[in-house]
Amino acid sequence: MNATIILPDPETMYQAIVDRDAEMEGLFLFAVKTTGIFCRPGCKAKPPKRENVEFFATADDALAAGYRACKRCRPQELSGSVPPWLTQLVDALEAEPTRRWSNADLIDMGLSPIRVRHWFQEHYQMTFHAYLRTRRIGLAVDMLNAGQDVTSVALDSGYQSLSGFRDSLRKWTGQSPTSIQQGEPILVERLLTPLGPMLAAASDAGLCLLEFADRKMLPKQFERINKRFQQPILPGTHPVLSEAAQQIDQYFRGERSEFTLPLRLDGTSFQETVWQKLLEIPYGQTRSYGELAKQLGKPNASRAVGRTNGDNRLAIVVPCHRVVRSDGHLCGYAGGLWRKKWLLEHERKARQTQLPL
Ligand SMILES: [Zn+2]
Repeated sequence: MNATIILPDPETMYQAIVDRDAEMEGLFLFAVKTTGIFCRPGCKAKPPKRENVEFFATADDALAAGYRACKRCRPQELSGSVPPWLTQLVDALEAEPTRRWSNADLIDMGLSPIRVRHWFQEHYQMTFHAYLRTRRIGLAVDMLNAGQDVTSVALDSGYQSLSGFRDSLRKWTGQSPTSIQQGEPILVERLLTPLGPMLAAASDAGLCLLEFADRKMLPKQFERINKRFQQPILPGTHPVLSEAAQQIDQYFRGERSEFTLPLRLDGTSFQETVWQKLLEIPYGQTRSYGELAKQLGKPNASRAVGRTNGDNRLAIVVPCHRVVRSDGHLCGYAGGLWRKKWLLEHERKARQTQLPL
């Protein structure tokens, strides 16, 4: 985890408050000088006037500045990691992943089922029960991969019948136990960065997804990955993901200008050529869509280059943020313009001061 959290620029943050932009959740908090209360960007309360707003990276910072947490949007519960009120449950889930949880179990733990459901929905884009199911399926896939026989896997992962297990497996991974034993799953993990949480996905063949987790596009990206690779996607860890987490961390510290990760660029041959070209843009520099098109020998294809740039699944590592308009304007970035701006500025500064280039 990085020590510093970077805030978007004030105009972007204020606009997010006015728009109650859910995409900005978890990236910053704001406090209102006239009421002494701090909120998250999506708070349903009436947006305050710009001159009364102060921005904070964490709830601790806002509390330290003398603000009280809003009772409506509960800003203290928002960060990239598991909040204290939920740790007991998350620990229990990990200790006993096959257990079936009822609302009564949650209430027994002193938790509100609605609050639990809301948190899982917000952080994993799935319901609490869907999360439990994917954890169980993930466990089963691990056991199948380890060569355990199908019947004992079904029982060990908490299924009462073999047919129920097969149905569930097919529903969630699109595969049968046998095809899983022969193939390998794509594992997904959340990484925390100063620009907000990212989702990373990888298999033995390499990293196939790295995206900011608040992106609207994400469910679609998963669908595309599922279609393209024909492999089950499950929450879990993988050596490629640990390595990616480490290199991303170094990148944000300004200690890494190039990535040495196995990448799965898989796309059409045009897409792959464009993404390969992006990898050649040096750290801290930019190229225009037109320049890239020319380099590819297709000077009229700058629109197609732009589209392919936007289709990049490996943010930061395949540096689509280094592509700008020919007049130098930053133009669109799937992860948000403020992030693109920050990444370019970060690279420019690190290049001048820290990195031996
Ligand atoms: Zn609020």
